[in-house]
Amino acid sequence: MSHRLAVSVLVVEATAIGLVVAAAVRTPGPGTVQLVQTAMLAGLGILHTEAAIGVERLRRRVMVGNHANLSSVWTFAGALVLPPACAAGVAVLVHLHVWARTGRPRVPLYRSVYSAATIVLACLGAAAVVGYLGAGPEPLTAAGIPGIVLGSCVYTTINTGLVAGAIAMSAPQPDLARVLGRWDDNLLEFATLSLGALTAVALVVNPWLVLLALPPLVVLHRAVLVRHLEEAASIDGKTGLLNAVAWHAQAERLLRRSDRSAGPRGVLVLDLDHFKSVNDTHGHLVGDQVLAAVAGALRAEVRERDLVGRFGGEEFVVLLAGPAAGASVELEAVAERIRSRVAALRVEIPTPDGPLSVSGLTVSIGVAVAPAEGADLRTLLQVADTALYAAKRAGRNVVRTGTLPGAVSPVASRHGGESPPGGGWVMHGE
Ligand code: GH3
Ligand code: MG
Ligand code: MG
Repeated sequence: MSHRLAVSVLVVEATAIGLVVAAAVRTPGPGTVQLVQTAMLAGLGILHTEAAIGVERLRRRVMVGNHANLSSVWTFAGALVLPPACAAGVAVLVHLHVWARTGRPRVPLYRSVYSAATIVLACLGAAAVVGYLGAGPEPLTAAGIPGIVLGSCVYTTINTGLVAGAIAMSAPQPDLARVLGRWDDNLLEFATLSLGALTAVALVVNPWLVLLALPPLVVLHRAVLVRHLEEAASIDGKTGLLNAVAWHAQAERLLRRSDRSAGPRGVLVLDLDHFKSVNDTHGHLVGDQVLAAVAGALRAEVRERDLVGRFGGEEFVVLLAGPAAGASVELEAVAERIRSRVAALRVEIPTPDGPLSVSGLTVSIGVAVAPAEGADLRTLLQVADTALYAAKRAGRNVVRTGTLPGAVSPVASRHGGESPPGGGWVMHGE
């Protein structure tokens, strides 16, 4: 852990403790009802973790990126109904119990203590806003609901902001998407907080009602696991791109769905040149990091909706669906941009002997341009693959284009020299 990160973690933890103590001194001690409510929420939080323990362990093993914390149901409910010290107690107890049962030994204790501190601060922030607006669940009025929604926004913002800050400080090159979490993870967080708000209302009406929050939460937990498993099964672990099976399935779906009037689609098949020598020179571990860097470069050069996959080894594949205009010219321009980006790539890799810089990579690219009508994925892949072999034969580090019969606007490849291969399609040479 860097010095800067350690200091920031300690400041956040000390602030959480300081604010809880200050709030405890200012407010009267909890009454019997509040102590019962605190015990209910902490007890149910622990019961929830125990009920979902197998699901949660598996989820943590397959998880990609950040994840929403489903225990927020109990901690957010605590923030809404309990005095600050009791709400903080629920947050710390539930959180450390989750760590002890499902996080250990992969997640170090200091990280769990830090996230407990961020949740305590989130609870204090949400409670302050809800208190200020007079929107607490006791008694809940219709006018209080926007206040509770605002409280949940404050809760998420404080929690996500502090966790994102720590990730940004500890990652060498923080990726904004990873730091902020994905859109559906954030939606899940809001679903959890809504359930937390309902739990708070139930707790005030009759503490026994809170038991009804447990079954939907356990079911939600399972649904989240299924989503994580689906994701893990479709992602290539080394590069974070789609794996070959998932790419195929999604490409088929996209081709079927994509609006035919959107114009031609194209497939790029890419193969790194002489990649074996990177492994031979620097070892497979460095080779793996180079593959991940190339994958990042690829993603950066295409649009969000284009499908990028790792086909296997040092081969990648991209489906560009419905370029705006220009057919093969546009597809070739994308391939050419990728080619020059990879050629300019410098991958910095920290090693025990100091930083290592790998550059001078090149990639050969086969492009298949399909007319708007009648191109199936298999044919597109065959055309692109043949074009790729032509690119290799032409000396590597080049883009070659093959076009299906009937395609419009044939355009010459910018790197020539190859004779057209046989078969039902045409290679464009100079
Ligand atoms: P060419 O220009 O003809 O494509 O040469 P090449 O060396 O890239 O091709 P070849 O097919 O001979 O070798 C591919 C190499 O890619 C061999 C293998 O060591 C390496 N490779 C395949 N998968 C991985 C991987 O997951 N990690 C690493 N580090 N290397 C891999
Ligand atoms: Mg290869
Ligand atoms: Mg290769």
